[in-house]
Parts: sequence; C-alpha cells; structure tokens
Amino acid sequence: VSSEFELKPPLGHESWLQGLWRAAAQDRLPHGLLLLGPAGIGKFTALRWFAAGLFCSEGPGTPCLACGPCRRLAAGTHADLWVVDAVASGEDVLTIGFIAQREKAATTGYKGPAVADFLELKAREGGWRIVLVREAERMNEAAQNAFLKTLEEPGQQTLIALETAWPSRLLDTIRSRVVVVETQAPPRADALEVLLQAGIQGVDAVDLLRRSKGSPGAALASAREGGPAMLELLGQYFAGRPAAEVRRNLWELDGEFDGKTPAAQSRTRASLFLDLGLAVLLDAERLAAGARAEDLAFGDVAASIAPLGEQERRRRLAPWLEARQDVPIHLAPDGLVDRALMGHAPLSPAPLSPAPR
Ligand SMILES: [Zn+2]
Repeated sequence: VSSEFELKPPLGHESWLQGLWRAAAQDRLPHGLLLLGPAGIGKFTALRWFAAGLFCSEGPGTPCLACGPCRRLAAGTHADLWVVDAVASGEDVLTIGFIAQREKAATTGYKGPAVADFLELKAREGGWRIVLVREAERMNEAAQNAFLKTLEEPGQQTLIALETAWPSRLLDTIRSRVVVVETQAPPRADALEVLLQAGIQGVDAVDLLRRSKGSPGAALASAREGGPAMLELLGQYFAGRPAAEVRRNLWELDGEFDGKTPAAQSRTRASLFLDLGLAVLLDAERLAAGARAEDLAFGDVAASIAPLGEQERRRRLAPWLEARQDVPIHLAPDGLVDRALMGHAPLSPAPLSPAPR
C-alpha cells in the first residue's frame, strides 16, 4: 500500500541509481533487486526515487517530478507501484498475508491485499510494475518462502526490489535470486546537513553521527529515543555506578520508543539499551586489541573497560550477549536488562518493575 511521500533525491545513492537506470534503458534491468546497507541511510527512500525514475515519462533516469507518472507516484496514487511496508502498517513482522493471495495466506497477521494479488494485474500505465519491500528482514519464514515464488515468476517488465540492513536474516534462496546492490552511509557533510535540517547541530550532531557510524537516519532515531542519555547511563554503569540505580534510571528515561503497546515499547527500550551496552563492550575488546579510541564509535565510553584484563572483560560481555540474543523470544524486558547488569555488580534484592508509559 503506497502512501504519499516527499519525492526528493536521496543523498549518497546517485551512482547505483544512475547505473540501474542505464541498465533499464538498455533493457538489462534484473527482475529482482536487493539493496544492502546500514540502517538509516535512506535505502527505502532511494528505492522509491528509483521507481519514480523508471515510471517517469522522461525516463529511465532522474525523475522529472513534473510529468503525470512522477506526480502520481509522489501522491501515492500510481497504480503500478506496490509497497510492502510493515512499519507503516503497524506490524513488527511481515507475515505471509503481505505476500500470498488471501485464500492461501494464514489466518493470523495482516489480511489486506497482497503482492500476489497486485502481480495478477496488468500494468495500468503500460510500463513497469514495481514491488518495493521495506525492511525485508521482517519477513518471517513462511512469508519468505511465499516470496520466493514471486521472485521465480515475476512476469513481464516487473521489478521486485527489497532493502535490508540485515541480509543474514533472508533465506539464501532469496539472496541467490536477486542482484545485490551495496550502499554506504552518505558523505559526512551530507549527513550533517540532514541532522541540521532536523535542528541538531554542533558537537551534538558530530557525536550522534559518530555513534551511528555515519548513518543520518540512525542518528535521528537515536536522538528521538534518548540514545545520548542512555549512553551516559551506560558510561556511569561501566565506571562503577550501582546496577540498581542504573536500572531505575533506565526505566525513567525519556524517549520515544517504537511499539504499539506499552509492553512493546518496554521491549524496544530494553533492546536499545542492550544494543548500546553491547556496542560499548565490543569496542572495549577492539581497544584492548590495539584499536584507537578515536576510530571507534564508542571508544571514549569503552576506555574504562578495556584495561580490565581479558577475564574481567569476558565476565562483563557474556551476560550482555546472552540477554541481547534473547530479546526476540519476548522474555520480560526488565528481566533481560537485569541479566545483562548482573555480570558487573550484584543487584540489590528489592525487585523493581518498570513503569511502562
Ligand atoms: Zn517524470
């Protein structure tokens, strides 16, 4: 289901876009495309821009923004574009319902029209039919298996384009049926410009971007979710602040956490905390192996852990790894956080439940 969006050139994607538009002009565009790259660098925006350039009356090439197809795409009314977007549909997981026809789909999860229904139709505008899948790693196994069928027989002048930051979560059989295009974070000046447009500048912007490995989208998400405050808390914890205090502060921290329910939001909060802590601990390993703090995203925070000696570092790292690994199986998020914190210092015996907002 496509919705209205601002159609503008994505930063840092120009070369692969031009290359693939050229391939389309020479009738060499593959039917299946997988765009890889870090989260938050605008991969999905770039795919929509790419689709616009295929539909454009002046194309294939940079969209003119003025012709009928360009305007319909920008308005979300282009009949030959199908967008699979679990995030916009409010679902954590892309179930088979998104992919297979309704009578074949399971009875749980999304029940709207599916990719397969769209692909039964002829192109209304006589050109390309395009399916875009946002965050394709959200497809569960049944959905991925159903998706394979559409990749095998996409039909004439049909493009199926996926994007993900987590290719290892896709079936090998899917990856082997698509042409993989790898992208990177945009140039630093462009990324800083994106942050500036969101009102973040100076040292804050530089710090956020470094922590997010140059991805402006990830930096903005971190700012929204209270990432800097969470990191400060972790720094205090690794410097010796009692686990019980750290735990209490974590659940009081302000931030907008993804999730439809308070329980889902608590899970997001816990997994962000575990991700950040793990990133710090892994940077401590890199420091101990000889990396320079200024080359690492969390080198400054990790500096207090690196000199501890291998055994001590491992004692801290193991429970974080285990806790992070168990996030997807939906254990109670406060319990997971406690398990991670337990590796460093004993918790006070008084139980403390989070107050989900
Ligand atoms: Zn156009």
